[in-house]
Amino acid sequence: MSGAEGVVLAWGAATHRGARRTLNEDRYLVTPSLFLVADGMGGHDAGEVASTTAVDVLGGLGARGPVGRDDVAQVLAAAHERVRAIATQPGRGAGTTVSGVVLTEVDGVPQWLVVNLGDSRTYLMTRGRLEQVSVDHSEVQEMVDAGMITRAEAMTHPRRHVVTRALGSLDAPQPDLWFVPVESHDRVLVCSDGLTSELTDERVAHVLRETPDAQAAADRLVAEALAAGGRDNITVVVVDAVALSQAPGGGLPGDDADEDTRPRAAAVGAGR
Ligand code: MN
Repeated sequence: MSGAEGVVLAWGAATHRGARRTLNEDRYLVTPSLFLVADGMGGHDAGEVASTTAVDVLGGLGARGPVGRDDVAQVLAAAHERVRAIATQPGRGAGTTVSGVVLTEVDGVPQWLVVNLGDSRTYLMTRGRLEQVSVDHSEVQEMVDAGMITRAEAMTHPRRHVVTRALGSLDAPQPDLWFVPVESHDRVLVCSDGLTSELTDERVAHVLRETPDAQAAADRLVAEALAAGGRDNITVVVVDAVALSQAPGGGLPGDDADEDTRPRAAAVGAGR
């Protein structure tokens, strides 16, 4: 049962420990309506426990009806408490990123509810054009925003792994949550930074365009990131909206959707 009537999805997922790390601290959660990636951090196996805890708690969202922002915020707050409770080495807390989409609907209109905390990423490909929808919560993103470094320089910057928001941090989680209306033939990519620190967005877009099958696309992206160095754990989830029975423009978003719904043109065209 999917989270929105009339939307037919196909998806694929792949993860790899990479070429350098001994553990895979990434986890993914894939259900008919939840497509999330968590990249854990912390000493010993704390990162693994953190990302596993996050996907376990977030999996509770799948059992409900249409999911709203408050539902996701509540579940993230619960997951945050569970991650905070993980025993770690002194001075090294456990934490995890969370990024991805929840398929839901607002007033009968199918929506991707995009969720992000940290530097895993959610992208949307529409008509062959790939755009990063999430905004990284990282030190290098802040430097890019301030005009101090370019996006290309951020990929190799020594502080590129420092996240400014995560589940399990000292502060209460401040997730980014917003709706993007689902369109037929949308392709969503959710990935950990182990993909995006090895491959440029241009390369990722090329592979997504050349690989129609979602599972094959996920496998190929992981293989390319590994071949490019595989310095971190690599996780990729690809989701295709293969059919949408809704008439285009059918239904108007209600008041509660207005302020949170990004105009389609902005979501697709925003150059970051
Ligand atoms: Mn990572």
